[in-house]
Amino acid sequence: MDFALSPTANELRGKLLAFMHERVYPAEAVYREQMAASGDPHHHAPIIEELKADARSRGLWNLFLPHKTQWNDGLSNIDYAPLAEIMGRSPIASEACNCSAPDTGNMEILTMFGTDEQKERWLHPLLEGEIRSCFSMTEPAVASSDATNIQLRIERQGDEYVLNGRKWFISGAAHPHCAISIVMGKTDPDAATHRQQSMVLVPMDTPGVDVMRNLTVFGYSDAEGHCEVDYDDVRVPVGNVLGEEGGGFAIAQARLGPGRIHHCMRTIGAAERALELLCERLLSRTAFGKPIAEQGIWEERIADARIAIDQARLYTFYAAWLMDTQGNKAARTEIAGIKVAIPLMALQVIDDAIQGFGGAGVSQDTPLAAMYAWIRCLRLADGPDEVHRRSIAQRELRKHRA
Ligand SMILES: Cc1cc2nc3c(=O)[nH]c(=O)nc-3n(C[C@H](O)[C@H](O)[C@H](O)COP(=O)(O)OP(=O)(O)OC[C@H]3O[C@@H](n4cnc5c(N)ncnc54)[C@H](O)[C@@H]3O)c2cc1C
Repeated sequence: MDFALSPTANELRGKLLAFMHERVYPAEAVYREQMAASGDPHHHAPIIEELKADARSRGLWNLFLPHKTQWNDGLSNIDYAPLAEIMGRSPIASEACNCSAPDTGNMEILTMFGTDEQKERWLHPLLEGEIRSCFSMTEPAVASSDATNIQLRIERQGDEYVLNGRKWFISGAAHPHCAISIVMGKTDPDAATHRQQSMVLVPMDTPGVDVMRNLTVFGYSDAEGHCEVDYDDVRVPVGNVLGEEGGGFAIAQARLGPGRIHHCMRTIGAAERALELLCERLLSRTAFGKPIAEQGIWEERIADARIAIDQARLYTFYAAWLMDTQGNKAARTEIAGIKVAIPLMALQVIDDAIQGFGGAGVSQDTPLAAMYAWIRCLRLADGPDEVHRRSIAQRELRKHRA
């Protein structure tokens, strides 16, 4: 296994670290102030556009892309991993570099399955950072961790598809720039189980699309939103199908592999930042006659955090290396494994950091509480832990049954 960074990735890493220190970390307070002053939880803070322009001028744009484009030569997963980790240290860095979910996954499937016309209309403005997008799969009425349960109906009528159904937890739907939704639904309920679903592109301003409400996350209203969206007799041309009719399930699988590893990479960055904040805090506070850092229990917790983060990073690198060398399908077990292991690891590290900060740890004065809330969601988003464990266990058992 070779986890060494290519010269290009190494150069990008240096530039990204400089960008984080010179622009992103100082912008975090500005972002919070602009959001608070607007009074709108889904406000698009002007500082983000400033950061985007700067990131772009430094060549730190669309780094997630695995293929050659006008912005870079395309990075392998192993090259992207440390860059995503650095961006994961701040809640605003990924958007600044046009590398945030759910757009990265959507851009990837548009690249892989989109027609020339779909690419021109939707992929290009996404790559330019002019619009944002969302991905509509989960439904309130059914257990959506089993995607075969999805009920939203997509019926063909002449040259149009007509969509009827309800989605929820649709991340990004409240972003003022969100212009397109990739919607998964059933085109043929009588087809074979994994051929019933299709994906269609639905512009957000299509009559019948109703972003009903945002769902809070542990009481937080995330800026991009996780929304309940109703599709009521929504009509789009048949040319808006992504890939082929009946191919929705296969596209969902193609989308989630890279999306999951990107979440894990960013989560490692968040855990690193939590540990860094914890160490600084414990060194600066004294209790019972000595710095808290020197109380034995904290040495043990800090050591455990370092061990856990480094293990998690190597496991993620291994999954990235497998994807690069043997393809996403060959890395299925490892992608499922990191999707379970990395959020659990980070939650423990962040929980210890919150504890080390005392009351301040649960307040708005540190990024820890929001970090905890978001990463706890990752145990659900893109499939709950149980479903990933199920697929790992089934493959493991199959070896022995054989
Ligand atoms: C913050 C956030 C953002 C999200 N963003 C999006 C988005 O952008 N687009 C989108 O489409 N969806 C999104 N989701 C939805 C997410 O993908 C689903 O919540 C998830 O797939 C689980 O589906 P469900 O909520 O219907 O839970 P259900 O399917 O009802 O499952 C509930 C629970 O049942 C248990 N369970 C399920 N299967 C098994 C099993 N085989 N064995 C044991 N236990 C099991 C698990 O504990 C699971 O958590 C987001 C969710 C959150 C929290």
